[in-house]
Amino acid sequence: MKKEISIVWFRQDLRLSDNPAFVAAAAHGEILPVYILDDCAPVACKMGNRSKIWLHHSLKALQESLGGNLNLYKGNSRVVMQSLIEQYDIKNIFLNSCYEPWHAEQEDAVKVVCNQTGVAWHAFNGNYMWSPEEVLKNDRSFYKVFTAYKNKTYGYPPRVPSKIAKNVIGKKDNTNKITLSDFDLLSESQQYQNIESVWAVGEKAAQKKLTFFIKNNLSGYKQGRDYPAQEHTSKLSPYLHFGEISPAQIWHAVDKADVGSADKQAFLSELIWREFSCYLLHHFKALYKDNFKNAFDNFAWKDNQDFLKAWQSGMTGYPLVDAGMRQLLQTGYMHNRVRMVVASFLIKNLNIHWHEGRDWFWDCLVDADLANNSMNWQWVAGSGVDAAPYFRIFNPTTQGEKFDRDGDYTRKFVPELKNLSNKYLFKPWTAPEKVLEEAGIVLGKTYPKPIVDFAGSRKKALELYKKL
Ligand code: FAD
Repeated sequence: MKKEISIVWFRQDLRLSDNPAFVAAAAHGEILPVYILDDCAPVACKMGNRSKIWLHHSLKALQESLGGNLNLYKGNSRVVMQSLIEQYDIKNIFLNSCYEPWHAEQEDAVKVVCNQTGVAWHAFNGNYMWSPEEVLKNDRSFYKVFTAYKNKTYGYPPRVPSKIAKNVIGKKDNTNKITLSDFDLLSESQQYQNIESVWAVGEKAAQKKLTFFIKNNLSGYKQGRDYPAQEHTSKLSPYLHFGEISPAQIWHAVDKADVGSADKQAFLSELIWREFSCYLLHHFKALYKDNFKNAFDNFAWKDNQDFLKAWQSGMTGYPLVDAGMRQLLQTGYMHNRVRMVVASFLIKNLNIHWHEGRDWFWDCLVDADLANNSMNWQWVAGSGVDAAPYFRIFNPTTQGEKFDRDGDYTRKFVPELKNLSNKYLFKPWTAPEKVLEEAGIVLGKTYPKPIVDFAGSRKKALELYKKL
């Protein structure tokens, strides 16, 4: 008798362990593992350069785990699925849901094909701890305040992670000639190509990262997470975005670690922020482009390309901002505290629209994630749900003095200031001429003068915000 074949449709779940769709399909019969490079996102949300590079390495790792049997296709998912259904007499499609609006539309389109052809559709929640539909207020509306959402979810631990389905590598579609290099994910600008020297990509690397974090950095996370030089955070964000590790795996590993509960709770709370951002995007689909608070729609943003370029290249004259922006360029990552500082600086001191910051992060981050990026940019702008109050304007000088006290982070990414004492490191424009000279700094030549006056731009921002 002919064996029944099921498709496992990989997207942002590029792992084999704790992958509910893969496990369920493996229990069902023979598998055709499929990844489709489908350019269905709207123009503003096409994959950024760093994401493409990460995806390349991630698919390579998954390909190896599946013994070379990951079948790669390019094009419209509906069309590709339709032809596979016909070719292999497919009876089931297994997948883990994604929540970007276009991914939801992509799923709907494939579901229609399934209905028309009698193929069973098995969708799981593999990438989040709680599905956005299952956490609602009593009146069935969605939560808009993080603490209320967290209080609701915290008492319901996510599913216990499943192990890798043994000896399942799936079936190869020998008629398909598309290879990973045909995806052409590495062709972009040279400045982004260093990913491999900074990051190990893939499911195995994600598990190693988690183990390392729990062993070395979870203890002390609550205090340490704010200090960029301490590297106290997990750096799991890109692995989570591409689904090389599941939040349920992280939750349970952290929960059972022999570490104080304050550190564990602080960490799990951050994981819940990730849930909350996906939840908000699911319930407010325009989160990535429209202000949640529409009072912001008429805000008087400035179009200043020189300021924007200075910010992007880490040449604003504010050392902590520049360190963050250069960390982003060099490594595809930026510490969370510094992300808040640079975002506040762009929006509130340079008065540039949060969309510009969102887009730059989108292109440069290895963890670029529509829900997290949009929610956080709107949080800093004050236009979002449960956002920072308008008068909260991060001061890059005092933030540096407080959170990079010894200057290690800033000196690492702004080496032209490395000989400047801590006293002046975060405000070199206040250093006496002699001090600058001894440190080998000529402001305006070896390092920029501040592009705006912090106090003046802060005052202007507050006036503008008050008008809202
Ligand atoms: P850890 O401190 O180890 O936290 C563990 C996990 O919790 C993270 O991996 C992440 O998945 C989640 N998390 C932590 N902080 C947040 C947060 N503020 N919001 C949502 N989830 C969080 N994160 C992204 O994953 N992708 C983005 O595109 C993104 N853009 C951001 C833009 C701005 C302006 C700001 C202020 C923050 C952004 N963040 C984004 C959130 C946060 O900075 C990163 O998730 C975090 O720095 C990742 O480092 P980590 O894994 O070491 O975090």
